[in-house]
Amino acid sequence: MTTNPSLPFPRVWMITGASRGIGARIAEAALAQGDAVVVTARNAASLEKRFGQSDALLPLALDVTDEAQTRHAVGAALERFGRIDVLVNNAGYGLLGAVEESTADEVRRLYDTNVFGLLHVTRAVLPGMRARRAGHVINISSLGGVQSSAGFGLYCSTKFAVEGITEALHAELAPLGIHATVVEPGYFRTEFLDTGSLAVSPQVLDDYAQSAGAVREAARRINLNQPGDPVRLAQAVMQLVASPTPPLRLPLGTDTLQTIAEKHAFVERETAQWRAVAASTDFPAQEREAHAQRVA
Ligand code: NDP
Repeated sequence: MTTNPSLPFPRVWMITGASRGIGARIAEAALAQGDAVVVTARNAASLEKRFGQSDALLPLALDVTDEAQTRHAVGAALERFGRIDVLVNNAGYGLLGAVEESTADEVRRLYDTNVFGLLHVTRAVLPGMRARRAGHVINISSLGGVQSSAGFGLYCSTKFAVEGITEALHAELAPLGIHATVVEPGYFRTEFLDTGSLAVSPQVLDDYAQSAGAVREAARRINLNQPGDPVRLAQAVMQLVASPTPPLRLPLGTDTLQTIAEKHAFVERETAQWRAVAASTDFPAQEREAHAQRVA
């Protein structure tokens, strides 16, 4: 593989799902500060249309659910720029519907993109970062990775997976000099809630009218009225990669901040109420000592 570390870019990024929304804004901000960016999405033509051509840019077709294509894309990125400094696992979409309303196929497809796709790309990029003992993996989670909710339960479960994967990556990669951060955006004004992006379970069960059904309605109202500005989100990500000590988690948006506060308060309250039961399930100290002596 040709590597050319003398190329004049301060950083080389690889961003999945960069054709629009958050991924495109991060790519534009990185290009504006003089970095090189490998922009990827399922349809390479949409990338060329949005970004044009430049020495700092490599547009590549990449469906993250296709592991072979992922390896090929990472190879092409290394061939062109010699390294990947920042990986942004951004490709993803939402599934709207109650847990019971969603079919096995809908759920499998969702996990294929939001979880297994992220893992494909991460596995392909990490060997290069480990070899250089440098790099930053940024995984885009969600407010829904902090707190799950009616109507978005399965989507949130994929983001809980992203949180768990990133926490472990952070622990495993820090000793190797590689950073891992999970970014938790609230509602940002992109096509996320629009018909081209959001999957909606066609099965509607009347019993869920007041929970998931109400969220189906709310999603229509919120679409294109979200409080979060993806351009400002991209600026926050530029600050994140510039930090010598990036955080494990970066919540973005006042709605995420509120969700975190509510979740912490709820967990504290519920844990306090059930503390006695929670603490009652260990073997008694005497029994533990006797067991330790028996197996010693
Ligand atoms: P958009 O729908 O605007 O963009 C989604 C991007 O993901 C597109 O570029 C799309 O590219 C890409 N994508 C979807 N499936 C695949 C796939 N299989 N392989 C490769 N690319 C894929 O949504 P956002 O920009 O808002 O979403 C980006 C990320 O942010 C997602 O992970 C989402 O879950 C997360 N997020 C968004 C929030 C919001 O309010 N906007 C809130 C919290 C999290 P293409 O279709 O061209 O291939």
